Amino acid sequence: MDYLRQSIKALPGVGPKTAQKLNRLKIQSVEDLLYHFPRDYNDRRNVKKINQLTVGEKTTIYGEVMGEARKLPNRGRFSILQAAIKDDTGKLFLTFFNMQYIKNKFKAGSHIMVNGEVKRGRHGLEMVNPTFELVDDIGEDNPDLILPIYPATEGLKQIQFINLQRSLLETVSKDIKDYLPEKVLKENRLCDLNFALNNIHFPDSAKALKIAKYRLIFEEFFLLRLALLRIKKNYTKEMNGIALERRKDLDNLIKELPFKLTNAQQKTLDEIMLDLTKEIPMNRLVQGDVGSGKTIIAILALYLAVLNGYQGVMMAPTEILAEQHLISIKEILEPLGVKVGLLVGSLKKKEKEKLLEQISTGEVQVVVGTHAIIQEGVAFNNLALAITDEQHRFGVRQRAFLASKGKNPHVLVMTATPIPRTLALILYGDLDISIIDELPPGRKPIKTYEVKIDKKEKAYEFIKKQLLTGRQAYVVCPLVEESEKIEAQSATEIAEELSLSVFKEYRVGLLHGKMNPKEKESIMTEFKSGEINILVSTTVIEVGVNVPNASVMLIENAERFGLAQLHQLRGRVGRGEYQSYCLLLHNSKTEIAKERMGIMVETNDGFVLSEKDLSLRGPGEFFGTRQHGLPEFKLANIFKHMKILKQVELQIEKLLLEDEELNLEKYPELKNKIEEKFEKLNDDISFS
Ligand code: ADP
Ligand code: MG
Repeated sequence: MDYLRQSIKALPGVGPKTAQKLNRLKIQSVEDLLYHFPRDYNDRRNVKKINQLTVGEKTTIYGEVMGEARKLPNRGRFSILQAAIKDDTGKLFLTFFNMQYIKNKFKAGSHIMVNGEVKRGRHGLEMVNPTFELVDDIGEDNPDLILPIYPATEGLKQIQFINLQRSLLETVSKDIKDYLPEKVLKENRLCDLNFALNNIHFPDSAKALKIAKYRLIFEEFFLLRLALLRIKKNYTKEMNGIALERRKDLDNLIKELPFKLTNAQQKTLDEIMLDLTKEIPMNRLVQGDVGSGKTIIAILALYLAVLNGYQGVMMAPTEILAEQHLISIKEILEPLGVKVGLLVGSLKKKEKEKLLEQISTGEVQVVVGTHAIIQEGVAFNNLALAITDEQHRFGVRQRAFLASKGKNPHVLVMTATPIPRTLALILYGDLDISIIDELPPGRKPIKTYEVKIDKKEKAYEFIKKQLLTGRQAYVVCPLVEESEKIEAQSATEIAEELSLSVFKEYRVGLLHGKMNPKEKESIMTEFKSGEINILVSTTVIEVGVNVPNASVMLIENAERFGLAQLHQLRGRVGRGEYQSYCLLLHNSKTEIAKERMGIMVETNDGFVLSEKDLSLRGPGEFFGTRQHGLPEFKLANIFKHMKILKQVELQIEKLLLEDEELNLEKYPELKNKIEEKFEKLNDDISFS
């Protein structure tokens, strides 16, 4: 297989220029090219010649564009565009209604595949609004009926790509050795690698393509899962961590908390305590819906570190959240003599220098903060526990960075993004997982209503009633993609308007991302203490804000948010004993928006919501693996291919039964493949 390791320049027909173009597509080695899969296929099996067409039939035609598309006179409300194509047997018109924007796509001489229903038009046969794709001239005599279409080609013609791949496959085919063990292939009914690679590029049939894809998707999941598991095994095997001792003071604190831990919290805490008291560094994910009480668990763990004479750190994705945590941690730990510090990017130079000094000497025992913590120049005296909150906002690399601030500290990551277990295994496959699947008692489910924009006044009346009983309210302003500035402006305007009109008897506060930390802090303090009745805010309050007296939230333009985000926002109310409400103000007639609002009204369960969100928006928008710092899949999609992923899980469990350590001595090719493929991931996750 050495040939595959070579530079693509080793391929006949690839000179320096072509190599450069390929490099731009991240294709360096022969192997990269082999694994550069088509994004789609031209299926020419059912292609007909124009003189074979019958009216009323839906068919595919392959032809040549005869000239530019012409705009015909409008017919009623419709604008009309017409183009003509030909093959060696005849001529066909393509007619498009209200699609002027495609006018420039038609150039004389370009090759095109069209699919649509054949009609008898004014000038002869035509297709109306057919789907079409411009293709390279693949030649009438091309032997393959299903031809690959490669993604972005950077100045390389499809046909060049096709020829390169074809000759490459011819050369290497006989040398391709499968790295998946025979047994794995058999038990999962997978085709071998040679078949898979040949058919993913040049499928013999639709069925062969399906089989090839299945195998390659399986392989992508399988290799990544194995890599993550091996990292996890190594991590726990090789590193000497800090075994903390369980202390009486911790139990005393738990007894004195104003509430009793829920069973789910207790179970999670037990799991964490067991980890912390071992010499193997903890590497654990705590997953729990909004409001399930993750913070107190983190605080207890931090306290144990301090009781043992070590430092602890907790990193949050936003300053507001970090400040909230600071308040919660101080409230509980300061009376016990623990010194807590806040490290955020906006500290003044003097303050920062002083704090860094105190962190490095160990005088500050617990540090809360944002990304600022993982900057260079932040050094701890003896860090034993590193926590990241809302891990879904961070990547694996940042998690690793944080851990690298100590000598093999225990690592705890917390997330409120509820995802099914199988997904968690892919996204957090190197971690142990605890789940808090229970809310503290007495929480009344939040009542959610959708409110049409023209009923806005009614919504305000509703809020007023809540304020009259002593409660507080949030008004969340529309999300403005890309521009925090515009977002801040619109929040400012809304706050001003409300304080001058409907809510003029009340104090309206304003919170947005453009404010400096001092301002933010004082607003939050005033809102917490009840001086501010209504907080108008951007989505900066999405995570972590905790004001149990706030019982109603109005979300403006709710249709612009995804379900997961609406759920996070809604989680800001219903945090105390009061019946709470969420009003989704919207002005959208689209089906998806309606469906989303409906689902929000129906359920409070984060798991249900995240699954619906996925099916409505598609995985790309929800979150990609990239955000987590994991390598991108080529074919696999953790949501679309959940079934295959489950199958992979079963296989992995079997392998673990065979060999708990996953040494893979029995499968040297597999081992090699994983080590090569995930070298970088290994460095990213476990660098310290
Ligand atoms: P999240 O899991 O979203 O981070 P928090 O840790 O902010 O949730 O907790 C939400 C609220 O619930 C806080 O006000 C917290 O004090 C309270 N809380 C946590 N655990 C319990 C419990 N066992 N009983 C009652 N209230 C609790
Ligand atoms: Mg939280």
